[in-house]
Amino acid sequence: MNILITGGNGGLGIALAERFLQNAGHQVWLGVRANRNRAEVLAASHGDRVRLIDLDVTQENDWQRAVELMVQSEQSPDVLINNAGFHKDGLLAMMPTEDWHSVIRANLDSVYLGCRAVLKPMMGSRFGRIINIASLSALLAPRGQTNYAAAKAGVVALTQSLSKEMARAGITVNALCPGYIDTEALADMPEAERKGILATIPMRRLGKPEEVAAAAAFLASREASYITGATLKIDGGIL
Ligand code: NDP
Repeated sequence: MNILITGGNGGLGIALAERFLQNAGHQVWLGVRANRNRAEVLAASHGDRVRLIDLDVTQENDWQRAVELMVQSEQSPDVLINNAGFHKDGLLAMMPTEDWHSVIRANLDSVYLGCRAVLKPMMGSRFGRIINIASLSALLAPRGQTNYAAAKAGVVALTQSLSKEMARAGITVNALCPGYIDTEALADMPEAERKGILATIPMRRLGKPEEVAAAAAFLASREASYITGATLKIDGGIL
């Protein structure tokens, strides 16, 4: 299968790629933007099985080019993992307009653009798996994350709505809601805040990127054929 993963240089993106590469039959396409060092290292150690693709997920043209490149290589996307995203937290009363829009664009508009770009080839092959990486913030709506929580809640709703549209086309659409996963996304968190967060997690530890990747691998498999429109939280028991 051909797996397209956005945010391919990030902590979760690399773990997703490594997980799919465990299956010798999978070809991985990693969408990268500015930073690509880790993705390049991964690609160098896997030869033709990993290809890097320039993909700013907020850019319609990038999506079009990415999917065209795959189709021209006769490697039409079978699995799309909408993983790219970021948060820029702050109280709404003081939130600059740009922080609202940039977070909505990168986390929600991107998922619309990505799904739309792959649907035609997936419908053509009557098979597809779309996995949207939302967040526990979509369900918890924490203070200080109005932009991010709204975007990720939008991803959950988009997932459910699209799953119904695609239910008879062989395409499943599901969302993952990770809690606190140990990647660069949490790197700038002050130690005191980290300790406070650990106290709220029943398992008393952060999640590992591989633990999210394992769930994505299952949802992408043919065995997961009757699961669509699902929202799976991966949070060590917080919610
Ligand atoms: P990272 O910060 O490690 O990786 C995020 C990746 O997204 C980076 O590769 C970044 O690229 C990319 N990205 C951001 N904006 C764009 C864009 N416009 N176009 C293309 N790529 C972009 O974070 P994670 O790996 O942890 O996060 C992956 C996903 O999981 C995100 O959607 C995040 O919201 C979600 N998530 C993460 C949680 C966590 O605790 N880690 C919890 C819940 C959800 P670049 O390096 O070029 O900026």
